[in-house]
Amino acid sequence: MNRRDFSKHVLMLGAGVHAGTALGGSVTINQSGSYYEEPVKKLPIRKFDVVVVGAGTGGVVAALAAARQGVKTILIERKGYTGGTVTEGGTALHSFYNLWKAFPGVKKRQVVKGIAQDIIDRMMAVGGCSGHAEMVRGYNYDSVCTAIDTELYKLVTMQMLDEAGVFIAVNTLLTGAIMDGSRIRGAIVDSRSGREAIYARAFVDCSAYGDLAAFAGADYTVPNDYACCNSIGLANVDLDGYVAHLEAHGGSNQLAYGIRSGEHGKVVRFNGGLGGEFSKEARKIGMSSMITTVHDNYLMFVKCNFKVPGSVINRDDMAKAELEVRKRQAKAVELFRKYVPGCKKAFMARTSPTLNIRRGRLITCDYDISHEDVIEAKHFDDEVMVYGFHDSAPRYQVMNGGTYGIPYRALRVAGIENLLAAGMLITSDHRAHMSTRNTVCCMGQGQAAGTAAALCAGRNCATRELRYGQLREVLVKGGVYFES
Ligand SMILES: Cc1cc2nc3c(=O)[nH]c(=O)nc-3n(C[C@H](O)[C@H](O)[C@H](O)COP(=O)(O)OP(=O)(O)OC[C@H]3O[C@@H](n4cnc5c(N)ncnc54)[C@H](O)[C@@H]3O)c2cc1C
Repeated sequence: MNRRDFSKHVLMLGAGVHAGTALGGSVTINQSGSYYEEPVKKLPIRKFDVVVVGAGTGGVVAALAAARQGVKTILIERKGYTGGTVTEGGTALHSFYNLWKAFPGVKKRQVVKGIAQDIIDRMMAVGGCSGHAEMVRGYNYDSVCTAIDTELYKLVTMQMLDEAGVFIAVNTLLTGAIMDGSRIRGAIVDSRSGREAIYARAFVDCSAYGDLAAFAGADYTVPNDYACCNSIGLANVDLDGYVAHLEAHGGSNQLAYGIRSGEHGKVVRFNGGLGGEFSKEARKIGMSSMITTVHDNYLMFVKCNFKVPGSVINRDDMAKAELEVRKRQAKAVELFRKYVPGCKKAFMARTSPTLNIRRGRLITCDYDISHEDVIEAKHFDDEVMVYGFHDSAPRYQVMNGGTYGIPYRALRVAGIENLLAAGMLITSDHRAHMSTRNTVCCMGQGQAAGTAAALCAGRNCATRELRYGQLREVLVKGGVYFES
């Protein structure tokens, strides 16, 4: 659906809600046409200060940040758990550090701290993280490997949200926006408890696909420039046997030692490509062989990629892709059983409930971070975090192992008064997005957006009226790292 159609749909929805005349459930069916006209319905209203949509990588952090400012915060998530793509798509959390190892003489710096690090601390306490394990090979790409137990991540983040007093609305789908001019008055959600209007003063879209922004009538594009992916957690593997075999046959070009099954100094990241028939067959199913783990007999993310013909926001195109990728996953397990030593009895222990994508809708914000901003390590007078990783390294790296800034205006959704965006839904340039979309960057953006939303709600001001000085002060208090 293009933007105009989408907005028309939203306006119709908004008009219905504003009219507020319930028809008591009676149904009008347009017998002659191909449309069914929904009856107008009165929705119960719930009131909050801040609404965060999407309890994924960025959204969890945004909701924690807002709630920690003492405002009444709701987090709306369509699935039954928190964590999003960080628990479903990736390999390791890129990256809490600057690329110091690739640039001799450059100081090692942890450049993302704050709530993102709080989550890692909690994960470490329950044995669910490799730690920030230093890369000993492949460090031109990243200096560290931070791998997580995906299931513990879901539990830990939900517990943290609960402790912070966030109203956790899981199993709840955002289905519309109630507009008052260019201001969002409420979000419309559907769950088994019924359809509800969630009113708030400030909103944060962390839905990855920018659903709230699109419902609110914001501009967006859908580049479809990545493969979709469903990654497998592969269990019952002899990890040390696999790594030993790789070493005996030329070695792995990526290697990090960290905490695995409670023991320090164990391999937690390696490149599992065996070459030969395995790699030939793997290529046919878009299987990537970069592997991380925090358990002895488990490969955390074996990825099967597929480029969707058509649109990644079209249900039917995506349904075909879901089937295709499930077939590829079964084939991937076959390949592991056949070719990889110690994997004869491997099985799929986890898949993602839905396909993941590196970007769906891209929402137009007040500032669009450019590739030059990233690689030339640009800083801004309204920056809300810094970041130093580029997923296309070593081809593209942030200059001299440094950092660039994410400006506050890059999180403000253009044309909407009280909506911020955080996560993979910002940054239109593909190469710049190869940096900003990574998990740790999304988490940092989440802290900035959630904090700003809370301040706006508290002051009853629009996102563009918030004074940067105030925002920065609160971010610093929240542990956010700045270079100067
Ligand atoms: C296959 C793959 C591999 C990757 N590998 C890595 C890697 O190795 N390292 C790395 O750092 N990054 C990696 N990335 C990138 C990174 O994981 C993502 O860009 C990042 O996690 C996105 O975070 P997000 O908060 O924007 O979205 P998500 O974490 O996806 O969160 C969005 C949430 O919104 C919810 N939602 C969506 N629509 C609605 C709605 N209408 N109503 C209610 N809830 C809704 C979703 O269910 C989801 O929980 C990878 C991405 C993919 C897809």
